[in-house]
Amino acid sequence: MPNDYDAIVIGSGLGGLTAGALFAHAGHRVLVLEQNDSFGGAATTYHRGAMTIEASLHETAGPRATSDPKGEIFEALDLYQDIELVPVGDFQEVRCPLIGAPLVIPHGIDALRERLTERFPHEAGPIRRFLKRVGSTQSAIQFLMEKHDSLWWLAHSAELPFRLWPVLRDMRSSVSQVLERYFGGNEAIKFALAANLPYYADDPDQMWWLIYAVAQGGFIQGGGNYIKGGSQVLSDKLVDRIREGGGEALSGQTAVEILLGGQGEVSGVRYRPRAGGENVVAHAPVVFANASPHAVENMLPSAERDSFMAPYRGKPLSTSLVSITLGLNRRPSELGLSAYSTMIIPEWMERLSDFKHGAGLFAEMPSGRLPALGVCDYSRIDSGLIDGELFPVSIAGADRLTNWDGLSDADYHSKKNAWLDTVIGRLDEEWPGFAGAVVQSDMATARTMHHFLNTPGGAVYGFAPNVPEQSLLSGPPRTPKTSIKGLWLASSYAGMGGFSGAIGSGGWAAKAALHEFV
Ligand SMILES: Cc1cc2nc3c(=O)[nH]c(=O)nc-3n(C[C@H](O)[C@H](O)[C@H](O)COP(=O)(O)OP(=O)(O)OC[C@H]3O[C@@H](n4cnc5c(N)ncnc54)[C@H](O)[C@@H]3O)c2cc1C
Repeated sequence: MPNDYDAIVIGSGLGGLTAGALFAHAGHRVLVLEQNDSFGGAATTYHRGAMTIEASLHETAGPRATSDPKGEIFEALDLYQDIELVPVGDFQEVRCPLIGAPLVIPHGIDALRERLTERFPHEAGPIRRFLKRVGSTQSAIQFLMEKHDSLWWLAHSAELPFRLWPVLRDMRSSVSQVLERYFGGNEAIKFALAANLPYYADDPDQMWWLIYAVAQGGFIQGGGNYIKGGSQVLSDKLVDRIREGGGEALSGQTAVEILLGGQGEVSGVRYRPRAGGENVVAHAPVVFANASPHAVENMLPSAERDSFMAPYRGKPLSTSLVSITLGLNRRPSELGLSAYSTMIIPEWMERLSDFKHGAGLFAEMPSGRLPALGVCDYSRIDSGLIDGELFPVSIAGADRLTNWDGLSDADYHSKKNAWLDTVIGRLDEEWPGFAGAVVQSDMATARTMHHFLNTPGGAVYGFAPNVPEQSLLSGPPRTPKTSIKGLWLASSYAGMGGFSGAIGSGGWAAKAALHEFV
């Protein structure tokens, strides 16, 4: 069967678009199929009345941060010329009863050490040692990621244990374990250092320390950034790269079947136009699955499903998020919001481990307890989202699909509205006058994520970034490679979640596929 394309990408999230753009950049013809009407998956903006709503991004580490995979990919695709990354200033403000007065967490290791030591003078030594550990873990991971041949590794074998010690030592440690080692029972300082944990995971007892060190370490070192104009700008530029390379990107097209050839290799994709009409078949020897493995399973012939799913079955999924956008008729700074990003840790959380009880709260009608909330004021920076006199504030909190299971549409909407009112009420306690300034609102839940992204459990970061069950020496915990020749995962599920993780996974998938592509 002649090929129509060199590669087909199922789904237009950042992982899929990155893989597609890199493949196109290498001179190959790519087709992107996206079930929704717009491209980008979670990296999307949309409009509600006069308000532009950012579907996901609060902040992402700068592409030039140590160990951040975006840098190499931005370089390769020449994205720096089209994407303006706006620094968000201080990393975040933490409002936590255990800490006392709001604590502004700056970026920069030295600045952070000074700020924390001012607030926790008795912990000066542990703070210094902890931040040093974050830095040395980052350097060790950076060192591991450098490209060298086997001769080089042999020549440097004597220094390897020393260089890699920070990784080796904590290869099986959770965030809670490492924080406990440095700060014992001082939960306040743990919240100061990990207040934004729900952006990565909902359980610090399970979350892998190395991911915290790389991701949080990247923010601590280089600060956070927003993409001017919204995450849609990045997704659209990646689509442009695919089209500039002679490829096509089609929205409103749901992939329903992955076709295999006589040797069990990928040969094409059957897809269904949302507008109706006949299913369409496109042939290609490479398929990048940006859709979750759970969605891909149903696209495969039944004989292939078990072996395809074997690496993924039973793997815990990442957290989902509730995402609320409020349009205010006044600048949030006039109401007292003083940071781009603020984390509100609720009174009932007395230990860092209490984060794990946050995601389940939306299962009930509101009764006083709220999860930790991340609040983002887009008008504090030149975000490109402000239009006229409506100022968007975005709020995120951990959620899971089971919280909204089995509800009729009417019950779902009334429960959602009750929670929306509760969250607005909580923000009004923090910043009096806030509720009165809200003139527009929009709320997405794990159910929205599940529906819109076709992701199991509403997971927004792929698999949970937990301590891996196997040692790193037996191979990386994730890979884009699948049991089917020519089929590659290109999404958070192949590596890590978040903007950096999904882009990095797409880059990894493209590299692996190009290596095999003849
Ligand atoms: C509210 C929220 C806040 C966030 N905040 C941040 C943040 O501040 N910083 C950060 O780094 N990350 C953040 N993230 C996480 C980040 O957005 C995601 O981890 C990342 O964008 C996921 O990219 P992905 O490539 O894995 O796929 P997704 O974005 O999940 O995209 C998958 C795509 O596949 C499509 N698809 C699925 N099935 C099919 C099919 N059969 N046919 C065709 N198309 C299909 C879907 O429609 C979707 O477009 C946030 C996420 C959310 C939801």
